[in-house]
Amino acid sequence: MIDLKSMAPEELTAYLKELNQPAFRGLQAFRWLHQGVESFEEMSNLPKALREQLSQTCRLTVPVVERKQTSQIDGTIKYLWRLWDGNCIETVLMRYKHGNTVCVSSQVGCNMGCVFCASALGGKIRNLTPAEILDQVIFTQKDSGEKISNIVMMGIGEPLDNFENVLQFLALVNHPDGMNIGMRHISLSTCGLIKKIDKLATLGLQLTLSVSLHAPDDETRSQLMPVNRGVGVGPLMEACRHYFEVTGRRISYEYAMIDGVNDTDAQADRLAELLYGQGGHVNLITLNNVAESPLKPSRRIRQFQQRLESRGVTVTVRRKLGSDIDASCGQLRRKHIQQQ
Ligand code: SAH
Repeated sequence: MIDLKSMAPEELTAYLKELNQPAFRGLQAFRWLHQGVESFEEMSNLPKALREQLSQTCRLTVPVVERKQTSQIDGTIKYLWRLWDGNCIETVLMRYKHGNTVCVSSQVGCNMGCVFCASALGGKIRNLTPAEILDQVIFTQKDSGEKISNIVMMGIGEPLDNFENVLQFLALVNHPDGMNIGMRHISLSTCGLIKKIDKLATLGLQLTLSVSLHAPDDETRSQLMPVNRGVGVGPLMEACRHYFEVTGRRISYEYAMIDGVNDTDAQADRLAELLYGQGGHVNLITLNNVAESPLKPSRRIRQFQQRLESRGVTVTVRRKLGSDIDASCGQLRRKHIQQQ
């Protein structure tokens, strides 16, 4: 089955041309797909014969709401979508003053194995296609009736482990005839795949790169994040520094505060040293409890923050949204799998 929604307008045009359609059909179809039509039949300005032909040869992905939880505290909505093959993924809609933000998944499951993360349990099942990543934005907007203005790629999966599809998704969601979301309104979070960070640097996209650091020393980071083993914090920070120099875009470092593991003053000092001279920004996150993990949230967030700030690092403490609805990505899918 052909996946039209993963195609750029030019690709769509070329494909429809093969079906003897005039060039303007490509953009017509593109606009419909990006409006979230649920059948080819809905594409009312396309000839009926073409709509019928497409519905027989192409797959139109339409995720189905398997579960939907709305936070009573802050209005955050968490969607568990069922995909065409029965796999489920999560998307979160968060309402901030600066606009509505969706947190999208990039894979079904994840292979990175971070010990504190619910998405890692069970490994990676498969990559999402560009259309399936895009669908999360389109159908969250459609279902909620809320205009989406920002995207964070911080859901299930490691986006740089699905590099080509993620790049295509970015091009699609950024397109003026589609969702038209500016690159500066998109953040991409990675556990730190160095070669892919280098590759991304060459593209000079205006998005914000977030790096999940979580520890400044190899001993701790390798224990928390298997991806660090055999590579190390040093080379990762070198790649980050290079990324900043090439793109001029400051990196945001994510740091989930874990009790007795990565929250000492010595680690704050080491972290400040790592970031010296690259204007990086640290985002401290309260660890979300994952039922399967013995790790506990740190009680030293303020002290750690102050210690970093006294050493010239800019720090924000992430506001916690949706704490009553398993909003930490991976948790709802996990629960759903266990209940089945
Ligand atoms: N694979 C990407 C993006 C997905 S996770 C990455 O590693 O960056 C998005 C962020 O949530 C990452 O910083 C991740 O480390 C963090 N995270 C995962 N589980 C968490 C938990 N239980 N508590 C707090 N943060 C968590």
